[in-house]
Amino acid sequence: MTTLVATMPPKSETTSSVPPRYSGFNGQYINGSWRPGHRGRTLKDTDPFTGETVTEIAMADQSDLDEAYQSAEKTQPAWRDTLPAERAAIMLRSLEIMDARHEEILDWLIRESGSTRIKAEVEWQMLFAITREAASFPYRVTGRILPIDEPGKESRAYRQPIGVIGVISPWNFPIYLAHRSVGPAIALGNTVVVKPSQETPITGGLLIAKIYEEAGLPPGVLNVIVGSSSEIGDAFIQHPIPALISFTGSTDVGRHVMQLAATSPMLKRVALELGGNTPCVVLDDADLIYAVKAAVYGRFLHQGEICMSTNRIIVDATLYDEFVDRYTAHVKTLKAGNPQDPDTVIGPIINSKQLTNMMKHVNDSRAGGARQLLGGNPNGLVLPPQVFADVTNDMPIARFETFGPIAPIIKVNGEAEALHVANDTPFGLSSSVCTRDEARGLRFALGVRAGMTHVNDSSVDDTPTAPFGGEKNSGIGRFGGEWILEEFTTPHWITVQHTPRQYPF
Ligand code: NAP
Ligand code: MG
Repeated sequence: MTTLVATMPPKSETTSSVPPRYSGFNGQYINGSWRPGHRGRTLKDTDPFTGETVTEIAMADQSDLDEAYQSAEKTQPAWRDTLPAERAAIMLRSLEIMDARHEEILDWLIRESGSTRIKAEVEWQMLFAITREAASFPYRVTGRILPIDEPGKESRAYRQPIGVIGVISPWNFPIYLAHRSVGPAIALGNTVVVKPSQETPITGGLLIAKIYEEAGLPPGVLNVIVGSSSEIGDAFIQHPIPALISFTGSTDVGRHVMQLAATSPMLKRVALELGGNTPCVVLDDADLIYAVKAAVYGRFLHQGEICMSTNRIIVDATLYDEFVDRYTAHVKTLKAGNPQDPDTVIGPIINSKQLTNMMKHVNDSRAGGARQLLGGNPNGLVLPPQVFADVTNDMPIARFETFGPIAPIIKVNGEAEALHVANDTPFGLSSSVCTRDEARGLRFALGVRAGMTHVNDSSVDDTPTAPFGGEKNSGIGRFGGEWILEEFTTPHWITVQHTPRQYPF
């Protein structure tokens, strides 16, 4: 099994003592204090595999939300003015804490979000990598002195933090997807309020707050609000304080975020990382055995609950029958069940609503002529892996993002048709193509309308130095390296007139 972040060193096993586990995940984190929310209602956070209650949280209302934004705003000027070394030191200290609490972080991910152990380890590595990258950001923000055709004037472009950033994080890679916004944001001198998904309030926000609190982050720089999206979601977006909403989630909610940002009293930016419908294309000259492995990993990591997950496998007719046989045989070996078992690949779907939706797509596609080669009914929230051949691009399992362990295999004739089918979707996040001819692969990649294309690899990849993001309905903006550095800062043009200027009147 390849890992998602291939360049990561193995986790240090030298950590001498394991710190006591964090506890007290039952409220909000506002201005450095842990306290119950004022809503008067509790949120039950459950383990999707066992159904056990992980924690109960006293939920936030709008007054809590407002307090969190106020504290972020009040703290921001002082945080912006800290030395780069102070901000870098916090990031480096949090890396040490993540390392020391490696097992604990994995355990929260498994219990709260139904991560398998394999996926939780991948997520931990991504968390560590983005934090290490963010630790370099305080030293990478520079301004410029610009040429100017005005006598006696000096023209400078400063780069400033944006101010307060509101982060809305999803439940599928909760700690990583929250922290790929939070880490860069605070490293660059912004302050933050996070609203995690109600499915993952700990791993999507509160756990990050514990780590930064332990790392010595000043109160108010990071705040976490746990509440109902239908009650405080709109207020979170429309609040006048945040200058940018960094949203990761579905395209429908992403559109809503953009609409509210446009009509809120204070206009604000949006960074949108949305849904996908990722193709994995297998051309006629592909290494078939390798392509099968890449397409199995790309579809079944985290039981398909990944925005970059391979939602359609598009295979040239010359290889199709053999590919389908080998793919089905490989998928048959994947273990489904308890995510705590180290060799489980397919764990529980996050909730019954998601499972019901994907089962409808499965049933409708079967009724529409898709040939089922592997399947079975759900056991609790665990759906055994499903493989379908003779799928067309308009069947529901191909047309919609299924976000589950369901692999549709589509037959095409030649490269041109493969490209047409790959692009025949309103989404454009990740994609991949397998071929023995790298020049052909590169040419094909350049024809795909997506933010990311991997030649001879699975579609699931993310590394902190590369631009991560989507085209079309998959989003606006990019994470990673210099791209997020630009996104979470803003240029400020400042001039100094050294000699008096001659005005015409
Ligand atoms: P979702 O319903 O859009 O939820 C995403 C986040 O938005 C959650 O925290 C949710 O909170 C919150 N939210 C929902 N309605 C809101 C509102 N009216 N105001 C403010 N916040 C609101 O997404 P999902 O279906 O759970 O997640 C899966 C989707 O996310 C897939 O489409 C997947 O492709 C996409 N995704 C994209 C990326 C990427 O990087 N491009 C990464 C991961 C996932 P609650 O859960 O508490 O309602
Ligand atoms: Mg849960």
